[in-house]
Amino acid sequence: VRAFPLYRYVGPRELAVAARGRSGARIGSRADLVEAHRRLGGRREALVCTYVVDDLGVLRIADRASEHVDCASGGPVLAAGELTIEPDGTISATTNLSTGFCPPASSWAALDHALRATGQALDGWSHAFEFRRCACGARVVVKDDETCPECDRVLPTDWSFERASVQRGRVFLEDACWRVDVIEEASSRGQDRTLALHDPRTGDAGLLVVIADGVGGVGGGREAAESLVDAVGRDRPSTVPAMQACAAVLRGPGQAAFVVARLRSNGSVVGVARGDTLLLAHAGGGWHELTEGQPRSHDARPAPFALAGCDALFACSDGIWKYVDRRVLEAMLDSDDAELPWRLVDAVRTRSGRLYDDVSAVFARRA
Ligand SMILES: [Zn+2]
Repeated sequence: VRAFPLYRYVGPRELAVAARGRSGARIGSRADLVEAHRRLGGRREALVCTYVVDDLGVLRIADRASEHVDCASGGPVLAAGELTIEPDGTISATTNLSTGFCPPASSWAALDHALRATGQALDGWSHAFEFRRCACGARVVVKDDETCPECDRVLPTDWSFERASVQRGRVFLEDACWRVDVIEEASSRGQDRTLALHDPRTGDAGLLVVIADGVGGVGGGREAAESLVDAVGRDRPSTVPAMQACAAVLRGPGQAAFVVARLRSNGSVVGVARGDTLLLAHAGGGWHELTEGQPRSHDARPAPFALAGCDALFACSDGIWKYVDRRVLEAMLDSDDAELPWRLVDAVRTRSGRLYDDVSAVFARRA
C-alpha cells in the first residue's frame, strides 16, 4: 500500500470542532488550479493560499486567511502549508507552514505525490519550517535560537508531536475505496513487524496483511518476525496452504506469533494464525474474532480461518488487545473518528505514557 505518515491537528480543540463540515476545494488537475486562482481573487499576479493534502491524498486549497483545520474538515492530513499559484495554474512556491498541524519537512513526499496528480513535478520545498512541541505545551516554529519563546526551555532536537507512527493509504478493491492505516510504536522490545501489501497488477490482488510479533532472546524474535514478513512480501500467498508454506520459513533463534490474512476484492477474508495476535473482521453489523481458534504453541500448524462479506478488518499484536477491554476496542473501531489511530495507542499506555509492549496494528475499512 502506498501510504504516507498521517498528522493530526495539534491546535485549539474548539477550532477542530468548528471545522467539521467545511473543507478546501479539491484540486485534481492544472485546470482546477487555474479555476481556484481565479475564484480566490487572483488576477494577473501569483496568489498564496492555504493547502492540505487530506488523509486520502487529495490536495485541497482555501483562502490564505483560513485555518488549515477548516481546509481539512477537522480531520488528519498527510501534508499542510502554503502554496503559491501562478495565473496559469503553475505552482511556483511551496512550504509546510501550518501551526495547526506542524508537519515535518518529510511531509514533502505526500505533497509531491498530490502535485504530480496535477501534472507538476517540483524539486522540493521552497522553504521548509521546523516545528517543535515544547515541554510547556507551546507549538514553536524553530528560528535561530533553539529555546521556547514562552518559557525559555531548550527545545527538543527532533520533531516532537507524536511518538506513535501512523501511516494511511488507500487501495481500490474492485470499485470500493478502502482506507488502510498502519499504526506502530515500539516499546523497548522492538520485536513487532507489520505488512500491508496491495499488488494491483494481479487480477484479484486484494490486500495482504501481516502482524508478526517476535518472541525469544535478544534479536531472535525480531529476526523470526522479519523472516515471515519477507516471505509473505515475496510469495504473496493467496491460499491457506501457500500461507502455511510462508510460515514454515520462520527462522532464527527466536519465534514469532503471527497472523497472515488476505482480504479479497469481494470482501471475503482468508488467512492463518498462530500464537496470540488478534484479527477482528467486521461483517453483518458485528465484529468477529477470526484468530479465536489459533494454536498457542509455536510448533503447531497455523490454524486457517475464512469469513465472507467483510467491510472492515483490524489486526494487532498482543501489545494492544491484552491491555484494552474488547468491548472498548470494538467501540473505538466502530466510532472511527479522526483521532482513532492515536487513541488506540493512548488506550494501552502506562500512567507514565510508556508502552507495556510493542504496538502494531493494521486497520482497513471501506472509505
Ligand atoms: Zn516552552
